[in-house]
Amino acid sequence: MTYSVSPIGFVRSCFKEKFAIPRQPQLAPAARGILELIPPYDQAHALEGLEQVSHVWLLFLFHQSLETEPRLRVRPPRLGGNRMAGVFATRSTHRPNGIGQSVVRLERIEPGRLHLAGIDLLDGTPVLDVKPYVPYADAVTEARNGLASDPPPVIDVHWTEASLQQARREALRLGEPLQELIEQCLAQDPRPAYQTPTAERRYGTRLWDVEVRWHYPDPSTITVLEVLREPR
Ligand code: SAM
Repeated sequence: MTYSVSPIGFVRSCFKEKFAIPRQPQLAPAARGILELIPPYDQAHALEGLEQVSHVWLLFLFHQSLETEPRLRVRPPRLGGNRMAGVFATRSTHRPNGIGQSVVRLERIEPGRLHLAGIDLLDGTPVLDVKPYVPYADAVTEARNGLASDPPPVIDVHWTEASLQQARREALRLGEPLQELIEQCLAQDPRPAYQTPTAERRYGTRLWDVEVRWHYPDPSTITVLEVLREPR
């Protein structure tokens, strides 16, 4: 039996590529984006009452990791990328039907648009549904998860004088908390766990329309080297 679903909208996100997106929502509160609803869901009626809600569940498609072959076991980055676990025990992007779910902050509502923060979604992500977070039902105080018991460890993020100036300048231009976004995302240490970086190796990703480059002067520290606006 097959069922079909179709998006209610698409996310315009600060994250333009997968590398360095936090592995769960809320880890980078400065990660912002807009859910642009498509007809008929862009009508005001569909959002009535949502102004009373601080957080929403997004159900979405991992559109850049859709699979044709079912995978029963995956190697989640959270387990170091070399231990396997059953797909249903993880939040891996490789999963049946490619469906992701995130609780994100609802900052503001405009006609047909939800302004979101704390997202972990790639730009262009198709969203299948939005539901209000219901604290009394969704926050389970005695819940436990032995595979992911604590938030991922963070590492120190430093700046060169020049890169900090660049970040502040681009933040002003964008009207976005870019310095915080870079610090929060890089503190999650985006490199694959099995990789011990040399100081010479350069890493990079795109946030909004800027390219961010960094290196590891030692394996437990990141130094941001450049924050450059992409050539148009
Ligand atoms: N919170 C969601 C969940 O639990 O279903 C996502 C968790 S998943 C581990 C988070 C990762 O998904 C991010 O770090 C990013 O690399 C990846 N990702 C985000 N949006 C995506 C998309 N549209 N297609 C493929 N991968 C995506």
